[in-house]
Amino acid sequence: MSILVEDCPRCGTQKIAFDVRGANCCGFIEAFNGGKIPEYEVYCVCRECHQTTIYICDSKDRGRDLSKIDWNMAFFQLTDMADIKRTVTPADLDVGEPPEFLPQNINDAFEEGAKCLAIGCFNAAGTMFRLCLDYATKDLLPDSSEEPNQKIRRSLGLRMKWLFDNNRLPEALRDLAECVKDDGNDGAHEGVLDKITAEDLEEFTYLLLERLYTEPQRLAEAKARREERKRSRP
Ligand SMILES: [Zn+2]
Repeated sequence: MSILVEDCPRCGTQKIAFDVRGANCCGFIEAFNGGKIPEYEVYCVCRECHQTTIYICDSKDRGRDLSKIDWNMAFFQLTDMADIKRTVTPADLDVGEPPEFLPQNINDAFEEGAKCLAIGCFNAAGTMFRLCLDYATKDLLPDSSEEPNQKIRRSLGLRMKWLFDNNRLPEALRDLAECVKDDGNDGAHEGVLDKITAEDLEEFTYLLLERLYTEPQRLAEAKARREERKRSRP
């Protein structure tokens, strides 16, 4: 049985032996010379807590396929064969990408919301998507000397209703905005968002941000390309 000695991220025991149970080639990364280096995920069980950690590794000898080794019969340590890079974490989960061309603060908030959603932190996800909507809709309000009043300005739900009523948000999205209004500030304050509500909120946020930022930018780029073609015409 091959072993690995590492700190266990599951139980916190330091310098503990793990049994190496198997390796899987999970993909390839580009080398400097343009070649492809296989990357492996190695399944290791802690002898203290008996829980599993997956380590991402490269083969020390490029020609050697770690997934073909019978680790139960091996007499060497994992580190004799492989360079350990890191463990697999929830950050490796597939998460939704934000729409293109968002301002940096909205882009960051969306990415954080999508990560929270992927690991089942629905209230945290909801808070981040609402923050995106908050940033995006504040910019659409008229000068503070004009309508609407402060109460409407401060509340995301009321502000969005006002923006729809005054044609400053696309009417086609009004029905989908229910997920924002109904859950009001509850998501942030009472901790009641479930998976479906958080997903509704993510979808609505995505569509609204796409309308507000992505589409205008795409149109501007298409227009610029057309101008360019016009200029190069003989
Ligand atoms: Zn452990």
